[in-house]
Amino acid sequence: MPMRTITASQVERATACHASMSLQAAHTSGAASERGITVHAFVAAALVIGREAALSDVPLDSSARALCEQIDIDMIRGLTGDDAEPKEELAMSFDPVTGIARELGKNIGRAYGDSSLIYGTGDIISHNKRFATVIDFKTGLSVAKAAVNWQMRTLAVMASRAYKVDQVRVALVYLKEGEDPYVDAHVFEAMDLDGDAAALSELHKRVSAVSLIQNPDVSPGSHCKYCPAAISCPANTKLVKALPSAVSFSEAINHLILDPKTELTLGQLGSAYEQLIRYRDVIDQMVDGIKNVAITYPVPLPNGKRLELVRSERDSIDADMAHDILPKGVADAAFELATSKAAIKRVFGKQSAEMLRKLRVAGAIKTTTTETVKEVR
Ligand code: SF4
Repeated sequence: MPMRTITASQVERATACHASMSLQAAHTSGAASERGITVHAFVAAALVIGREAALSDVPLDSSARALCEQIDIDMIRGLTGDDAEPKEELAMSFDPVTGIARELGKNIGRAYGDSSLIYGTGDIISHNKRFATVIDFKTGLSVAKAAVNWQMRTLAVMASRAYKVDQVRVALVYLKEGEDPYVDAHVFEAMDLDGDAAALSELHKRVSAVSLIQNPDVSPGSHCKYCPAAISCPANTKLVKALPSAVSFSEAINHLILDPKTELTLGQLGSAYEQLIRYRDVIDQMVDGIKNVAITYPVPLPNGKRLELVRSERDSIDADMAHDILPKGVADAAFELATSKAAIKRVFGKQSAEMLRKLRVAGAIKTTTTETVKEVR
């Protein structure tokens, strides 16, 4: 199987499961949330053209507007160093044979080249004569700490080689409504960068070798999430292919328990129980395998629905803050039972959008993001 291009965001998985870079994959659109895209674009633009100019490009009715308004651009700028010019959405490449890295350009939309190089795009990359900085913004779920995060380590290697600096400062900046940005930063020094550059070259060599094997071994684990090869991965498909024999087993157990002419001893019940528990474990593994595929590829169901990954954001309102911010009296009734958006809409009617905006800007609304694979219409 031809090897797919390794990108910075795939290094972690490619390291854990080399076969994931060559097993057959279907095209996927990679659904980033609208809110995340808007916030990324705003921060990147604000660093270049200034906060107010960038904010004027964010529509007033955008669900990301309140979050953009609260982001401290000066704090983020402070991470890059005064004398460094930040470049947004900068794509870079790293040659695993020569160790040479270079800039490919800004906003190229992941239009990388062939698999002989490793690629990556930083939300913000800057450098001066002493060090380079790589910043990645997160508006959803948390990722591995910056110090061990392979996406950041790969981008750090690229920046160090491209700009010929011995130190790279990386920062994962978590942006959440109602909260100050949380910065997870780490500094990679020359020895770390040399080690990671060597590891990337070795990874490329191994992945390339595995791509020549017809039925490569796979290594399932937490890294399987978003794997483009999930649809053809034997770890996901082998149990499902075994379904017919599992069903026969189920029927045999059913017969044993339900046939009224059969007199069961306690011993037989015990052994049926043990077999059923084992069978349940197999079913759980099958369901997990199918759900793992559905994370990347929505699976059509015979009932007309689809099994797919659903990201949901849940807002919760801080009751004490809301009492201080909203007009007195009228809000009390709504907050007696629960501080919910529904309660605010009930009490404030047409004014509720403005009230909710005030709460967001004041940091009284906290958003929690969750991801679940479930049936949707
Ligand atoms: S889904 Fe399969 S191919 Fe992909 S990472 Fe997991 S084990 Fe490897």
